[in-house]
Amino acid sequence: MKEQEYFENICCEVEKTNERAYIPMSPDIVQTSSFYYENYEDFMAASDDEKNHYVYTRGTNPTTENLEQKLARLEGGEKCKVFASGMGAIAATFFTLLKQGNHVLMANTIYGEAVALVRYMEKFGVTVDRVDVSETAELKSFITPATKMIYFESPSSQKFELLDLAEITALAKENNIYTVIDGTWAGPLLQKPLAYDIDLVILSLSKYIGGHSDIVGGAVIGSNQLVDDIFEHGHQSLGAVSSPFNSWLAIRGLRTLPVRMSHLSNAITTLLDELVKDPRIAKIYHPHCGSDQQKQLAKKYLSGYGSLFAIDLVDLDFEKLKIFVNHLNIMSIGVSWGGFESLVLPAYKGNNEQQLKDRGLPISHIRMYLGLEDPQSILEDIKQALDIAYGPLS
Ligand SMILES: *Cc1c(COP(=O)(O)O)cnc(C)c1O
Repeated sequence: MKEQEYFENICCEVEKTNERAYIPMSPDIVQTSSFYYENYEDFMAASDDEKNHYVYTRGTNPTTENLEQKLARLEGGEKCKVFASGMGAIAATFFTLLKQGNHVLMANTIYGEAVALVRYMEKFGVTVDRVDVSETAELKSFITPATKMIYFESPSSQKFELLDLAEITALAKENNIYTVIDGTWAGPLLQKPLAYDIDLVILSLSKYIGGHSDIVGGAVIGSNQLVDDIFEHGHQSLGAVSSPFNSWLAIRGLRTLPVRMSHLSNAITTLLDELVKDPRIAKIYHPHCGSDQQKQLAKKYLSGYGSLFAIDLVDLDFEKLKIFVNHLNIMSIGVSWGGFESLVLPAYKGNNEQQLKDRGLPISHIRMYLGLEDPQSILEDIKQALDIAYGPLS
């Protein structure tokens, strides 16, 4: 084959319509960086309005847009933008909505990297308070004239405490403040924050939505106006772009999300109802085991339970803690969660006692994620490791 012919017919051939029509069961993965334009005028019009035209995958891509439309519908929002990670979505949101002189109020325990990011933004003149409250109304006393955003999780990372979404919205609207919730714990099926007029929902797709510990992704969902703004600045300029293949894997995850969440919601109560009886466990952090006030909030805002929780062991001996964690056979040691496999993540790393004390946590605080295994076998796994480390129950 002549070189010219090779380039024209094989190498640079632009995607042409297949002669045989097909409708795939599974959506297309449009794995392309750039999009072809047949004439100059169309290209000019498209590049002037990238959010509504496919020009370059750093902006929009059909596979990612397919996922965005599904997530927007699931959350009941006007629009969604998907990112390369949950932190990508969080960073883009802070970058877009905050400016010099703004104050961010962070309520209760929050994903550590999100707190670290706003604290880092102090060099740009953004201030932050992270405060612990048990009643949502207590937040009022921390609002200042500079407060621009209330950022929270419900249930929260680490302690899995709920806040009253409707009360937060009311408080924020009175003071002209954005409300942003990280809704990763419950995901889009079990809680609908936008129904309570929260401005933006952020999700890490790396957890339940991906569902198989094989992707990192994030999303922000809200009004056309806010999400367009975040697209224009936080997405386009910071560049945390989801690859079409990762977006496709998230779409695949959505197909089984209802079945997985309904299984996990039941399985977690089965597991916790047994663990709560074990005298070697001092405390369980999960809405199912919370105070009456927490149970009321769970009833009001959650239509089911996520399966990420934490425990404090009674015994504070570090050596025994190591024996316990190392003798779990089914549960694996590892970060993240939301996939098939059950995971354990001790909070104590041998040098962060003070950090835990600041949050009111003992060194025996351990995060656990119940995966899709039979909860009975996870219960037995935890029990046998407790027996080895702390002695069997008499
Ligand atoms: C994992 C997680 C994040 C960060 O998401 P990545 O996809 O890992 O960047 C944010 N918030 C919560 C609650 C998370 O669990």
